[in-house]
Formats: sequence, structure tokens, C-alpha cells
Amino acid sequence: MFDLVIRGGDAVTPQGVVRCDVAVSGETIAAIAAPGVFAAESAERVIDATGHIVIPGGIDPHVHLHHVWIKPDGTPLITAGPEQVGRAALYGGTTTFIDFAYWRDGATAREAIEARDKDFAGKSPCDWAYHIMLHSEPPPEFSGELAEAIQAGYPTLKIFTTNILPSRSGRMIDFGDIWEAFQVLAKHGGLGVIHAEDNDIVMHMYAKLIREGRVGFENLAEVHNQLSEDLSFRRILRLAESVPGTALYMMHVSAGTGVAAIAEARHKGLPVYGETLHQYLIYSARDYQRPNGQIYHTYPSLKSRDDQEALWRGTANDLIHCIATDELCCTLKDKTVGNRIDDTTGGNSGVEPRLGVMYTEMVTRRGYSLPQYVDLVSTNAAKIMGLYPRKGALAPGSDADIAILDPTRRGKLRAADLHETDYTPWEGHDIFAWPVTTILRGKVMVEHGRYLGRPGDGCYLKRKISSRTLAGAVL
Ligand SMILES: [Zn+2]
Repeated sequence: MFDLVIRGGDAVTPQGVVRCDVAVSGETIAAIAAPGVFAAESAERVIDATGHIVIPGGIDPHVHLHHVWIKPDGTPLITAGPEQVGRAALYGGTTTFIDFAYWRDGATAREAIEARDKDFAGKSPCDWAYHIMLHSEPPPEFSGELAEAIQAGYPTLKIFTTNILPSRSGRMIDFGDIWEAFQVLAKHGGLGVIHAEDNDIVMHMYAKLIREGRVGFENLAEVHNQLSEDLSFRRILRLAESVPGTALYMMHVSAGTGVAAIAEARHKGLPVYGETLHQYLIYSARDYQRPNGQIYHTYPSLKSRDDQEALWRGTANDLIHCIATDELCCTLKDKTVGNRIDDTTGGNSGVEPRLGVMYTEMVTRRGYSLPQYVDLVSTNAAKIMGLYPRKGALAPGSDADIAILDPTRRGKLRAADLHETDYTPWEGHDIFAWPVTTILRGKVMVEHGRYLGRPGDGCYLKRKISSRTLAGAVL
């Protein structure tokens, strides 16, 4: 007896798109078979998915929940936590996200993880994991602790090559420490997840624009520019090349120069993967001119239309593998409270519409196949981040994380219809399919607009990066 059978949908499986029934027992997928093979009486419950698209739950490998941002007046803005964002994610068909544990001075990696667990455990309705985020001046013993963390199931290390803003310190890691970190990652099977910008160029441009009185946020693309992405990507990729076995995941690629650097590294056979954001694929620096133009901004910055096209080509040519959000969910008031190049709130409120928006842009408008779409919003993240095939696959033995999309659900996105916050950067965006049912490890979390999840439904996912990913052979 199965707990659930999802009947007759077009399922995106590792073997391609097949019209089939998906049977769930407990928390996992028990079997997949031709429609009607499982008798109705063989299941506690049947969901009719005829005419719908059945995909693995979305995976967002880059979110910042319950994250502190300093507002222009110096007071902290704490972004929405996993209760609120997780609920919105599930409404939008995403079942797993990866956030960050802040490994600050004076703490051990273990303490960093435990501190972050307080923000998530018992609160997150989605499954989740952390990248460990290294801060400047890592202590001499960090190498040993990093090796232990990788073995303990925390195998991804976030590294910044810039402080991003002139007012901020403590993010940027110097290249000597990054070199040390790469040696540990390579030896112990970790993956570096990188925010690369050239700090000299970025800080030079801040000083220059401030001197010239051009401080409006609409100039952000001049500060966090293509040259910065070019230099920083090439420098860090070259460093990785010097430590054989170093695998990197380049976060929020925003420029054609970044895509080109990834192409060059992959051409050499290096295990390098690329991520972009739906924000960068859909908006360009021109959108800063629109009313409340800050809502389109995420650091580094929106770039030109040409950059946008290069990013799109990257998604089609195996250079960009994941489309994440860089979620920092806050109100419109907080998102627009800063309006200068040096105080505009970063991040994005977009985890809920991610699957729907990308369906429109990829499948409807650009003719991507359903498997390509699923790879970019779910499967590739699972493969790169050490979650596959538990996550990111509709296959026997995988977790029963399932989103059912209705391709007849069409219309325009409205913030009022979403569950994330009081605005959306995709207001008025066309929708050609929408997740109508979301299942997390066999539990129906959203169905026909009703939310059935609970804050503690999610669990932490310990991870191990596969040897194929580390060798660059997986994608
Ligand atoms: Zn981020």
C-alpha cells in the first residue's frame, strides 16, 4: 500500500519527460510506472495530475534568511526568517534552500553551525542546509576545523573577495587565506562557493562616483562593473587551478565577462560551476530608472542587455548551471530605504515566483525543454551541492519532494497573490504555469492555495560533494 500516488502527470524524470504515475511511501518515492499500473486501491490517496507537469521540488542554493543588514541610519534590518520565506518557497514549488552559517572571529566552525541552527531548527518548513561563510582574518587553526566540517556534512565554504560596500569590513578574505582554504577543500572533498568582485576596482569606483557627486543607486552598474567581474573571476579561478582538485561554484554571475571566465576554466577541464539569479536574467541596469528601481537590485549589480544575453547563453551552454535568488526578504519600505550606491539594500524577494517566472522565460519564451528548466531550478543544484539523488530527482529512492505545475494557470504576477512580502520585482510578469501542489518528503505542504505545512516540517540536510562533481564530470 502506497501513501500517495500522483496520477497521470507529465513527470520530468532523469530519463526524460514521461507520462506516468509516481508512487510515494513515507518520505520517499517508491516507484514510477505507466499510468494506471497502480490500482486506485493500492494508495491511501491519489492526486490526479492529468494535464499537469510533475517536477522535483525546486532547490534554491543561495538564500539569506534571518540575515542582518545595516540600514542607512545605522539600525539593523533583520530579513524575514525561514518560517515566512519557507512558506512562500513552498507556495512557489521550492522545497529546499541553502543558507549560510557565519564563521566569525573567535568561534569555531561547529559554533557557527550551532548558532545558525537556532534560526532554523523547528522553524523551517523547507529542508535546508548551510554554506559555511568564512570571515576575514580566519584563525591559524581554521584549516583543521574546515576539514572536520567537510567530513561532518558541511562541505561548502563561502568566500568573498570583496567587502562589497565601503562602510563594511570583515567579508573579504585575502588571497593567502583563500589559498590555504583551497588546499583544504581539494584535499577533503569540499567545494568553494565564491562571491568574486575585484575589491580595488569596486572601492575605486565608489570613491570616484562619490567625488563626482553621482551617488544615486542607478549608477551601481558602474561601481560593481564588468571589469571587476572579469579580473576577480580570473584571479580566483587561476588560484584554484594552482591547487589541483579545487572545485568552485561561482555565485551570482552577473556579467558576460564572468561567463567568459567560467568558459575558459571549464575548457581547461577545471571543475567550475556557475550560478546566476533570475533577477540578472530578466532585468538590466536600465531597470534602475524605474519607480522604486532598488527592488531590481542585488549585489554585485544589474548589468547591460549584452551581459544579460551572455548569461542566457551560459544557461544553454553549460556555463551557468543554477538559477538562484540570493533571497533577502524584506518589506518594500526596507528595500527602498537606501537610495545611494553605498547604502542600497541588496538581495531579492523572489523565492516564491522563481519556478513560475523561469518557466515563462525558459520554456514558454525561449523554448528550453522541461528537463533543461528542471536542471536549472532544481537538479543541478542538487548535483553540485551534494544532495543528489536524494534531492532534485523524481526517481525511486529519492525524497518525495514534488512540485506539480499547472500549465493552464496563466495570468500576471501580483504581489498581493504571493506570500513572501509586500512587493515583488516581478509585478505584472506573465505567468504560463504555476505550482499548484507542493510535497515535501511525502507530506502535502500546499494544495489548491491552502498551506498545510508547519514551521518544523523541514530538516537539516547533511551533504557530501560527489567525486564526479569534484572532478568536473557531473555537468
Ligand atoms: Zn548572497
